[in-house]
Amino acid sequence: MATSSELIGVIERRSAHNYHPLPVVISEAQGAWVTDVDGRRFLDCLSGYSSLNFGHGNEKIVEAAQRQLARLTLTSRAFYHDQFAEFCAGLGDLTGKDMILPMNTGAEAVETAIKVARKWGYEVKGVEPEQATIIVMEDNFHGRTTTIVSFSTDPDARDGFGPYTPGFKIVKYGSVEAVREAIDANTVAVLVEPIQGEAGVLVPPDGYLTQLRELCTAENILMIADEIQSGLGRTGRTFACDHEGVVPDMYVLGKALGGGVVPVSAVAANADVLGVIKPGQHGSTFGGNPLACAVGNAVIEILRTGEFQERAARLGEVLHARLRELIGDGVVTVRGRGLWAGVDIDPSLATGRQVSEALMARGVLAKDTHGSTIRLAPPIVISEEDLLWAVDQLADAIASFR
Ligand SMILES: *Cc1c(COP(=O)(O)O)cnc(C)c1O
Repeated sequence: MATSSELIGVIERRSAHNYHPLPVVISEAQGAWVTDVDGRRFLDCLSGYSSLNFGHGNEKIVEAAQRQLARLTLTSRAFYHDQFAEFCAGLGDLTGKDMILPMNTGAEAVETAIKVARKWGYEVKGVEPEQATIIVMEDNFHGRTTTIVSFSTDPDARDGFGPYTPGFKIVKYGSVEAVREAIDANTVAVLVEPIQGEAGVLVPPDGYLTQLRELCTAENILMIADEIQSGLGRTGRTFACDHEGVVPDMYVLGKALGGGVVPVSAVAANADVLGVIKPGQHGSTFGGNPLACAVGNAVIEILRTGEFQERAARLGEVLHARLRELIGDGVVTVRGRGLWAGVDIDPSLATGRQVSEALMARGVLAKDTHGSTIRLAPPIVISEEDLLWAVDQLADAIASFR
């Protein structure tokens, strides 16, 4: 069998260099642990960017996938299939919304929300044709399509991919005043991550989401919450918006909705919003396929018990208490909520990449984001013991740069 360095050699020659992975070739995983082709074990503290909230090889999810794989995998939306009713009703109940529009990847669900908001703006709000604008946040991450990178403020994500899609206004994240000032008669929606994951797990000030909700209601603007990374248990609640009791007009979901097995994304909204989409106006060959729905149904069933939300909240307190002890010891700040943390490393000590590599050498897989931040987001099935061990490895990795 090929070694990891042989495989990495082939991958680096034959795959596009659109990522800069850590040099580990994973071949198996269970729960919070992965094994590489050389037989080394690592604790997964990334969870596929929070796609694996319920753990690798989750029994209920894998069982649902295997059962469905053998029965029916694809019909296209030209026909109905027997998994679709439960998916729409189940996800509708989980979000408290009337209707679901299923897609595959997160970016497609964000695109869906943008299209729905524009159409709602023209047909319901009465905005002049072609004039709709959507307010978005600095340092946002909503995916990689040409429209979405058009309103990215990250030069790596955006530069060189123009011409850009118009119709977006970018404002400072965390400031309700900035949103208020950006609103005009053509504003149809505000698109916001309740916690900015890729930006480094940035938690907005308390009350921000509540005030944003009130502002959107007062101005007849749709509040769109991109909960692709923050949702489905990660923060200790089903949705990050739940921490403020805020209900957006549209939830955008993805990542963990597919249980780490298949890409499953969706927009959830009430009929007065999602009802603007008529046959032929939007769709996807694979969106809402039977396999995706069966997996999604298992995920929804798991979330219904509240068990994972509670576990993330409890373990999150353990994680944050322990991480805060490192402040001053090579750690500048710690942010986050639930089992999700952004740890800023003292940049004079090491880069985030260097710390990620040192962590890997100690058996922990985590990834840097934006220079000197390490994101920790282990599967929620992780044991408390393993979690504390991971933080010990982080402390040791940082200490090694002194
Ligand atoms: C990952 C992510 C996306 C994009 O999802 P893909 O499945 O990679 O297209 C969009 N928004 C947020 C907040 C994300 O974390």
